[in-house]
Amino acid sequence: MSLIELKNVAAFYGPSQALFDVSLSVGEGEVLALMGRNGMGKTTTVKVMCRMLKNSDGAVQFGGQDIGALPSYKAARLGIGLVPEGRRCFANLSVHENLIAAARKGAWDFEAVCRLFPRLEERRDQSAASLSGGEQQMLAIGRALMTNPKLLILDEATEGLAPVIRQEIWEAVAKLKAETGMAIIAIDKSLKELGQVADCAVILEKGRTVWAGAFGDLGPEETDRYLGV
Ligand code: ATP
Repeated sequence: MSLIELKNVAAFYGPSQALFDVSLSVGEGEVLALMGRNGMGKTTTVKVMCRMLKNSDGAVQFGGQDIGALPSYKAARLGIGLVPEGRRCFANLSVHENLIAAARKGAWDFEAVCRLFPRLEERRDQSAASLSGGEQQMLAIGRALMTNPKLLILDEATEGLAPVIRQEIWEAVAKLKAETGMAIIAIDKSLKELGQVADCAVILEKGRTVWAGAFGDLGPEETDRYLGV
């Protein structure tokens, strides 16, 4: 059964239409790679899921419930955890404070996040601003986990990071996939790295779903046509 499902979604920024006909679904425990070149609508699709973009049409269901009219904080409470592009941690708060500020009752707490990212334990009392880019990204993922999401959305989680750190992030995602029933939607530029974790893929072009299927069925024809530069 689908955990989240978008059907024929359209979205607008003022008068300009960014999404025309986006449909996708992700089941529990599934990892979806949301792909497409720059400006094709990936982040906008994420905003619709998180109810951060009110100006949209079509159906958005989460856990069988229509969430198309909910405010974003309610969508978050239902279990949609977003790691936004650009990380957005509280710069002046410590690692521990950043995580505690996001906490809700449930399986995830400071210790559980530190088991996934031991570096955060080492940096416990440092301000978020003093962390490396990779550590800030781990903190951003940790903050989303503290809300006990059923669906975790990673919007360019490895952007600008060194290969070793990127790998650490993907290993953490693989661990989440193996050890929790969490559904994950990942946006990333590296097809190869997405391939380490993705079960299925959706490709957007000019605000439309142009391809959807098993990640393993993505061939050179699709990647050249829709993802090549
Ligand atoms: P990127 O990889 O560059 O982040 P994307 O696939 O996530 O790209 P979106 O950010 O969803 O693409 O953008 C889709 C379209 O909507 C683009 O044409 C973009 O210019 C437009 N757009 C995005 N944000 C806004 C905004 N705040 N106001 C107006 N237009 C916007």
